[in-house]
Amino acid sequence: MTSTALPSTDDLRARARARLDAIGVRIPEGSDFPARTPLTGERLFGLRAATAADTERAVAEARAAFLTWRSTPAPHRGELVRRLGELLREHKSDLADLVTIEAGKIRSESLGEVQEMIDICDFAVGLSRQLYGRTIASERPGHRLAETWHPLGVVGVISAFNFPAAVWSWNTAVALACGDTVVWKPSELTPLTSLACDRLLARAADDIGAPPAVHRLLLGDRSVGRQLVDDPRIALLSATGSTRMGRETAPRVAARLGRSLLELGGNNAAIVAPSADLDLAVQGIVFAAAGTAGQRCTTLRRLLVHRDVAETLTARLVAAYRTLPVGDPFDDRTLVGPLISLPALEEMDGALARARAAGGEILAGGRRRLADAAPGAAYCEPALVRVEEQFDVVREETFAPILYVLAYDTLEEALALHNDVPQGLSSSIFTRDQREAEVFLSAAGSDCGIANVNIGTSGAEIGGAFGGEKDTGGGRESGSDAWKSYMRSATSTVNYSGELSLAQNVSFL
Ligand code: NAD
Repeated sequence: MTSTALPSTDDLRARARARLDAIGVRIPEGSDFPARTPLTGERLFGLRAATAADTERAVAEARAAFLTWRSTPAPHRGELVRRLGELLREHKSDLADLVTIEAGKIRSESLGEVQEMIDICDFAVGLSRQLYGRTIASERPGHRLAETWHPLGVVGVISAFNFPAAVWSWNTAVALACGDTVVWKPSELTPLTSLACDRLLARAADDIGAPPAVHRLLLGDRSVGRQLVDDPRIALLSATGSTRMGRETAPRVAARLGRSLLELGGNNAAIVAPSADLDLAVQGIVFAAAGTAGQRCTTLRRLLVHRDVAETLTARLVAAYRTLPVGDPFDDRTLVGPLISLPALEEMDGALARARAAGGEILAGGRRRLADAAPGAAYCEPALVRVEEQFDVVREETFAPILYVLAYDTLEEALALHNDVPQGLSSSIFTRDQREAEVFLSAAGSDCGIANVNIGTSGAEIGGAFGGEKDTGGGRESGSDAWKSYMRSATSTVNYSGELSLAQNVSFL
């Protein structure tokens, strides 16, 4: 199914301009840096990229602002995040439209992305009163031993195109509450969304009297990111993107003994056990695999199905895939918007060709759509591919809607297949057998940072820590105690005994 005609580039340009106006953004017009839309694949505006001097100035300003922000009481810092949350509520629809125009998400997912930003603001406001340290029993009489959390410094945020606003807010709301300042290098594919986020935060800072340089935005390609990577004033580099990007950035940050927090690629699997509720599984699988046109880090890419139910489940998935409406993400009926670019579509085609050559069978989808209406855009049908083993292409992350389906016979075999990929982000099992669910969640089960039962791999809530292991980079963002990555701890011993006693009974003098 292909849903209705596409909007024109002129219409999208006017819509983007109206949403930016509503938020208060003045477009930094230039010629060296284009803003595009994947809906038509065409250019919307010419912008100006940050120069090396702009980057230098932004880091210096953020560092100077840190020196006052770190001493602002944390609950007052929370006021800034509270105000940002209010502005996000007010401009939810404007920002969601920009996400749809630039990242191609269907409107309900774009609204969901902004809701996630509001949720993390609420979380960070609460956090600003809960940056708890602890008191530790001292082995010496008349001594107090305590651990305190202090702000860290300037946080450099590098983000990916597919969550152009939420990933920024996960980092920024928490970093600001923790007393850090932020310099953000968003994806070069989503500059308008980042201008809108930056403007909303600037308005919030103005409203509560916070230093304007608590946040600086740098538009540009990876060369701008590299400058942040190498700058010793960036106390924490929080980088979200491909594993390739992580491999390039992490060693450089490590070489200057800086801290990095990496949120990289996934290759997420779900196991469907013979006892699974198949109605629930089909819904969970189709959203996780085809939602966001397969462009979430948590997208379901591998389905491991018990042989007893493989045929039935596969037939139901094929039927569901055949009815997925592909097209204009602003149309309420559409469930699958465009891929971000033609190169992304070429990667999808290449992966499908490799899968076929290795013996895979395409059961549904995989064809390009709307090529006549929008030759520069990359609309396609999500693909379902049956494979007999996890050959190379199945073990890689192709950032497109391809779901590989593989049959298994025992849970042990399924778990071995599940963990036999380089990435370790998200995972799930569909089962009504409690023993199987517990094994999956145990130390000997899924090796991922996220492990779910009877729900798909995507669509995490902000309350939990988000991130994954192995090639996914090991970082944790968002809720739980992920905030500790944005702070430094100090251990203090206070002697109120009036006598000097050394630890471990050491005597001296
Ligand atoms: P990408 O790696 O191409 O780019 C991500 C960001 O890194 C961009 O801002 C880019 O300019 C910058 N960058 C790239 N190379 C760099 C370098 N050498 N030095 C400094 N900066 C550099 O990723 P993308 O195509 O925008 O996003 C898709 C990828 O991101 C997928 O692999 C997806 O799984 C991953 N992702 C992961 C998470 C997560 O939380 N684990 C979330 C979203 C996306």
